Amino acid sequence: MHKETTLLKTAPAKEVKPVTARLHPFDKPCFGRGRRVTILGATGSIGLNTLAALERNAGAEGFEFVALTAHGNADLLIELALKYRPEVVAIGDTAQADKVRDALASTKIEIFAGEAGVLQAAERPADWVCAAIVGAAGLAPTLKAAANGSVIALANKECLVTAGSGFMRTVAGFGATIFPVDSEHNALYHLLAGLSADRVAAIKKYYLTASGGPFLRTPLEELASVTPEQAVMHPNWSMGAKISVDSATMMNKGLEIIEACRLFHIPPDKCGAVIHPQSFAHGALFMRDGSVLTYMSPPDMRIPLQSAVTWPQTGEAFSAPTDDFPFPSALCFEPPNYERFPALRAAEEALRRGDAATAALNAANEVCVRAFLQKELRFDRIACTSYEVMSVIADKYAGESVKEGTEVLAFSLVVDEAARRLTSEKIRRFNG
Ligand code: NAD
Ligand code: MG
Repeated sequence: MHKETTLLKTAPAKEVKPVTARLHPFDKPCFGRGRRVTILGATGSIGLNTLAALERNAGAEGFEFVALTAHGNADLLIELALKYRPEVVAIGDTAQADKVRDALASTKIEIFAGEAGVLQAAERPADWVCAAIVGAAGLAPTLKAAANGSVIALANKECLVTAGSGFMRTVAGFGATIFPVDSEHNALYHLLAGLSADRVAAIKKYYLTASGGPFLRTPLEELASVTPEQAVMHPNWSMGAKISVDSATMMNKGLEIIEACRLFHIPPDKCGAVIHPQSFAHGALFMRDGSVLTYMSPPDMRIPLQSAVTWPQTGEAFSAPTDDFPFPSALCFEPPNYERFPALRAAEEALRRGDAATAALNAANEVCVRAFLQKELRFDRIACTSYEVMSVIADKYAGESVKEGTEVLAFSLVVDEAARRLTSEKIRRFNG
């Protein structure tokens, strides 16, 4: 028997408390308890936009920065630390720790380093935490932060994909709440906040929009030779490299469907993607009477991020004030083509197969995307390799499912590691 399986099977049986998932209550302010703020992944695209949203809504009271974390980019972390003066900073890459220590030596800021350092920073009590680390690496720090019962502005979709349904139960057990800031989920949150229970019961299907990325119209036979430079050039959004590649394969939308089902308790067959190249509509609810409710905004992540700061109030626009909404001259919608975007099919199947399958798909995709960015894997092999790994690992762990608490992390990490190993082997074979 494999070591991983043994670990899972021998985990002590534990009663699962029926705790309802903890989406942030629609009628409660995100900043209700206090103004202590932490940003996990502060130097990234979401981290910086979050700081911008906080800065312009600081008001007279301002915010108290508890922790800012980053993996690399010590220079930017130092700059942010000097500007926002948090109690602690954490740099994941230990090789850059001395640089951070030297630069902040004359301040009172505590400095932590390495993976353990990021966890130490995350567990400092804060009232509001933006979870903006990229990838499954964000799971453990986000759970640490949630253990303080904070409001979590959740950008890191990989948490919900990797930790399965147990993530929301665990967060609920901690008394924390999740405010979705991924734009599509933020759109659904806004829509749901305005509906009565009867109207929610009349929803037939939840839709997440997808721009289709840079290769929506590229001839299929050209996808094999796509370069990383082409793949990260998203037509509408400016984002980190990993999510940009995920948008090009549409794995991003697949991960987001999994995220949405787990956040909002949607059965898999009631949640789908629709291609909408303008990225103005972000989420839509198809109602029993044949109507559709949609939430629109220009494609600017500061808008959902700001809503996590001001909720349930509405902040001011980031762009120049205008009395009219800048409707684009065309708003187009089309169903996704699964031949072009097999990643979407892989994610939908993983969602149906359960927690181990989604964790495996996410891990395999992370390894494939990194290999693609390093020019070690062809673009068109990302989705099929991730699918194959998901399938093998899902069979291996069939019947196992995530519970809550520490088991969530243990289970996810075991599956995640197994999937990463298998993916790396496959990539080596392609190149060997
Ligand atoms: P990014 O690559 O720009 O930034 C990632 C941040 O995480 C950086 O601060 C980096 O230092 C840190 N980090 C990376 N690896 C780490 C590790 N192993 N341990 C600790 N910290 C680590 O990514 P991003 O585009 O800001 O995306 C962040 C998350 O938000 C992702 O999960 C992404 O899917 C999600 N998201 C992003 C956008 C967007 O517009 N960028 C939109 C919706 C959701
Ligand atoms: Mg999104």
